[in-house]
Amino acid sequence: MARSSIEWTESTWNPVTGCTKISPGCEHCYAERMSVRLKAMGQPNYSNGFQLNIHEHILDTPLHWKRPQMVFVNSMSDLFHEEVPFEFIQKVFETMRKASHHRFQVLTKRSNRLLELNTRLSWPPNVWMGVSVENDDYLFRIEHLKRTNAQIKFISFEPLLEPIHSLDIHNIDWVIVGGESGPKSRKMNRSWVRDIRDHCLTENVPFFFKQWGGFNKKKAGRILDGRTWDQMPDTDLAPVEKVTIPSLSRKRKSSHHVVSPGFPPSRE
Ligand code: SF4
Repeated sequence: MARSSIEWTESTWNPVTGCTKISPGCEHCYAERMSVRLKAMGQPNYSNGFQLNIHEHILDTPLHWKRPQMVFVNSMSDLFHEEVPFEFIQKVFETMRKASHHRFQVLTKRSNRLLELNTRLSWPPNVWMGVSVENDDYLFRIEHLKRTNAQIKFISFEPLLEPIHSLDIHNIDWVIVGGESGPKSRKMNRSWVRDIRDHCLTENVPFFFKQWGGFNKKKAGRILDGRTWDQMPDTDLAPVEKVTIPSLSRKRKSSHHVVSPGFPPSRE
């Protein structure tokens, strides 16, 4: 099991490693940097660096993790990359279905392929499907996601590179925002984050603020308007402390959302 330092998950599982860049959000890809380092450290799954590789031998790994947890699938790749055979994606979904005590978070930028394969996949309730969006040009990924049969749908605005206009989060279960980190990171404006946060509050969609990012992301922290934002979809397994706000009823399905203490926010 690989413990993760990513704030919105607990562990990572990488049955695919390596990727190719597809949009501006990929420019300073963390997975690429890490793959080069892991190759240098002699990690066998990264012997080809950032070239796409599938790893049949770890397909069953989550089945052996007894403690229920949140698992980020393919933090070092994109499961819906065009070079990942459909049969392999199916096997990943089969493991996720069998490991029903975990919650799996799958995040892609290949929303076209996600939608194309949607009806050929069986969507268990413990699979949270997300798309990454870095600016307005990629809002179409959200529309693709909405058309899938995934039972929990989320958006990751990370790295958020520009303000987002015309955001429609109807039928979306969770929104994450994060700034880019690392040596050449691009700056994220506070107002861009607030706009998305406020939209989530209005629409009653759980909002998670991951980080400001920057060269020293630890120093920049993850406080927005005086507090952290660690809201998660309401499922029976989520890693952060939550308080149910009964007056905030969800507009869809039977689920209601939960928020971390301190709601509503106060501006700085
Ligand atoms: S899709 Fe994700 S993993 Fe692939 S290059 Fe882009 S940022 Fe990196």
